[in-house]
Amino acid sequence: MRAHAVSGGTRNGLAHRFAGGEIRASVDCEARGICLRLRPRRPLSRKRWSMSFRTAGFRIAKILGIPIYLDATWLLIFGLITYTLAMNFGLQHPHWTPLQHWALGILTSVLFFASVLFHELAHSVVALRYKIPVHSITLFIFGGVARIGREPTKPLQEFNIAVAGPLASFFLGVVFLAMMRLSSPDQMLGALSSYLGWTNVALGAFNLAPGFPLDGGRIFRAVIWGITKDFSRATLIAGSSGRVVAYALMGIGGYLAFYKNDWYSGLWLGVIGLYLLNAAQQSIAQMTIRDALAGLRAADVMSHEVPTVEGHMSLEEYGAEVLRTGRRCHLVLSGDRLVGMMNVHTLNAVPRTEWANNSIQSAMIPRDKIQWTSPDEPLLRLLERLLTSDINQMPVVSGGADQAPQVIGMVTRDSILRVMRTHSELASQLSSK
Ligand SMILES: [Zn+2]
Repeated sequence: MRAHAVSGGTRNGLAHRFAGGEIRASVDCEARGICLRLRPRRPLSRKRWSMSFRTAGFRIAKILGIPIYLDATWLLIFGLITYTLAMNFGLQHPHWTPLQHWALGILTSVLFFASVLFHELAHSVVALRYKIPVHSITLFIFGGVARIGREPTKPLQEFNIAVAGPLASFFLGVVFLAMMRLSSPDQMLGALSSYLGWTNVALGAFNLAPGFPLDGGRIFRAVIWGITKDFSRATLIAGSSGRVVAYALMGIGGYLAFYKNDWYSGLWLGVIGLYLLNAAQQSIAQMTIRDALAGLRAADVMSHEVPTVEGHMSLEEYGAEVLRTGRRCHLVLSGDRLVGMMNVHTLNAVPRTEWANNSIQSAMIPRDKIQWTSPDEPLLRLLERLLTSDINQMPVVSGGADQAPQVIGMVTRDSILRVMRTHSELASQLSSK
C-alpha cells in the first residue's frame, strides 16, 4: 500500500502578535501547506514510519467512496487557526460583536480545511480515473495525506495527478476572490472570502515549489521521467530538489526567527522544512531499495554454506563456536534429523550464567517455528518478511511435493543490505559520469 500525501494547508503568519502586552494586528494571510505522497511501508525502518500514520484518526465522512479522517494533530492546528482568525477579525472589525468574531473564525477555519480537502480530492479524482485506488484521505497538522494503492505507471499520469491539486486551489482562490469583489471588506462575507481567496492562491503556489515530494516536485519528476524515460533517475533528481527546497525553507525560517524576530513563522517554516526533508529522503531511500532489489530472488544472495550444530551441545560451547567461526546462525541437528535453528540472538536471550547448564536444544527456535524461504522468493518481499518478523536470517528450502524438502542455503539481512550498498555505489559511479 502506498500513500499519496496530498495537500497540506496550514496557516502561517499569525495574524496577531503579542507586543508590549498589546495585541498588534497584521494582515498577512500567507498559507503554507505541504502536499506529499508517501508510502506507508518503508522496508528498512518500519519503526520510524509507524510514528506518523499508523492510525488513520477519526473518520468524519466518505466522499466519492473515499473515507475521510481527521488526525489527532489536526485538532491542534484547527484550534490555533480558529483562535487566530477570531482574534484577527476582532482587531480588524472592532464594531462586530465577539460572537460574530468567533462564529466567523470557526466558519472560515472550517472552510479553509474544506479547501485543503478539495485540493486532496482533486488529486484523488484524477488518480481514480487512472484506476489507481485511493484508500483514504487524512487531514493532519501539516495538511493532508491520501493513501493510494500504487504509484502512477506513466509520466503523464503522474503529471496530471500532481497538477490537479494546485489547479483546484487556484480555482477556489479565484472563486473566493470574486466573492470578495462582490461584497464590501467590512461585511462578514467580504472578510471571509478575502482570507480564503488569498489562502487558496498561496496554498496552490506553495505546493508548486519544485521539491519532491511536493506537487511541484512530482510535476518536475514527471517531466524528467518523460524526457529520460528513466523513473529511478527522475526520482533521484527530483528528490535532490526536494532536499534543496527543504533546506531553503529551514533557512528562510531561521532568517525570519533571528533577523525579523518572527519566531512563529520562523519555527513553523523550520518544522515544515524538516518534515519535507524527511519525506524527500524517505522517498529516495524507498526508490533506491526497490531499484536495487528489483528482479532479484533469494537464490541470488543466499550463502550455500549451511552451518549445523548438534542439539546436545551446551550453550557455553555454542558461544565458543560462534566466536571461533564468526558464524551467527546454525541449523540444529539431532543425529541427521533437523530439529531447530540457533543463532546469536537466541543465545543472548539466555543469561550468561546459565550457558553451562543448558543445551542448544533447550534454547533454540524449534523446527515448526522456523520461517523458511524458497529460492524463488523475490528479494523485496523477503526483506519485508525479515523486517516484519524482526529476524536476521532465513534458511532457503528447495524441493516441492515430489521431492523431500532440502535446506540449500541461508539468506541474511546483511546479504540483502550488501546488495543494496553495492548497487548504490555503482549507481553513484554511473551518475557521476
Ligand atoms: Zn497537492
